[in-house]
Amino acid sequence: MTPENLHQQKELLAELYQKLPHLKILPLSKWEEALERGKLVPLEGLPKPAFRIRREFRGQTVGTVITEDLFLPGFPSIPRVFVLKTGVPRYIRGDFFAEEKIEGYNVRLARIGEEIFAFTRRGFVCPFATDRWPDFLPRLPEFFARHPQLAVCCEVAGPENPFVTEWPPYVKEDVDFFVFDLLDLEKKGFVPPEEKYRLLEEFSFHHPEINGPFQPEDLAPLQELLRRYDREGREGVVLKPADPRRGRILKYVTSASNLGDLRVAFPFVGELDANYIVHRLVRLAIGRWELGQPFDEEFYRQLGESLFGEMDDLLERVSRGEAVEEIFRIRLRREEALEKLLAHFRHTQVRIEIRRTERRDGYLFVEFAKIYPRATTFWAGKLQGLAQID
Ligand code: ATP
Repeated sequence: MTPENLHQQKELLAELYQKLPHLKILPLSKWEEALERGKLVPLEGLPKPAFRIRREFRGQTVGTVITEDLFLPGFPSIPRVFVLKTGVPRYIRGDFFAEEKIEGYNVRLARIGEEIFAFTRRGFVCPFATDRWPDFLPRLPEFFARHPQLAVCCEVAGPENPFVTEWPPYVKEDVDFFVFDLLDLEKKGFVPPEEKYRLLEEFSFHHPEINGPFQPEDLAPLQELLRRYDREGREGVVLKPADPRRGRILKYVTSASNLGDLRVAFPFVGELDANYIVHRLVRLAIGRWELGQPFDEEFYRQLGESLFGEMDDLLERVSRGEAVEEIFRIRLRREEALEKLLAHFRHTQVRIEIRRTERRDGYLFVEFAKIYPRATTFWAGKLQGLAQID
């Protein structure tokens, strides 16, 4: 940011500071300092000047969105337990619900003026979800009119989304929006589960499957549920205490989800922290042991298939000089959403090549490739015979 630009942003920040009571949790000088250090950055794409928190500071979460009439906190990270029978009673007292953990990507939807925007985990405007929410949550405007203090957290999941290559087995085409939390912007916390479930039903919002209440003293039914989710290829559960004061929110994933992650991650090992792979192997070992799922030939076959199933093809392509890439297919309502999505990818330094677009049935169908330069170099260097000291 140039000095003039910084000066201008500080003036905007000072104006927001006067208007937004939430900002007063810290002195203005701390917000200015965050701006200077790049922890707070200007946010494009909204009708009014806005900022997002890029790196955590003084208890403010990454992905927080700040504009004239909105202070939308970042979605908090959920701790994972590896073992239910010791992990659940350690953190939860009293009844709790097990919501299906949906495999997709997280957005928070909020109203700014008369428009509804979707924000990604990092606090960017999500051009895809901002374009598509009316198809899946048609009663959202009515919801915000009646509950202006709430924001809607949901998972956008399905085979035709622009960001992730895993999705729930029962979403067969396009995507769906699964609402899993309502964030009370005044009370600064989630609406408690039972009240939330009532609102989700009232507004006919699709939501993750809800199971329970369960008790930490009797986890057999929860373990049984997870064996079923595993058979059905579902991701796992997020455990939510019925009374939020009596425990923490926890997550736990199935063996199938870990295998799925390995399948999509191994070809990209040059792009990600290699620990990503080790973590999934650790979860698999402990999870299968607890749930009494066998370590047998079939499991070893599945594990090997997940790790290496894509590799022959990938190495063949890289050896021919092709880049490591992933193909995405999406549909959009408005042309301008594609422009915004491409701008988003440019801004977040993701390399994209559009392969095909087609207007059909009122939608713009787009096929694009995401190119992974680091993964390409990782494999190509080895295939070209480069030696390495390890
Ligand atoms: P993941 O656990 O999916 O690898 P992550 O590393 O971002 O993602 P967290 O920061 O712990 O993990 O967030 C948990 C994620 O689970 C959130 O991104 C949220 O969108 C997703 N999720 C899916 N279903 C639910 C649900 N029912 N309740 C809460 N979160 C859910």
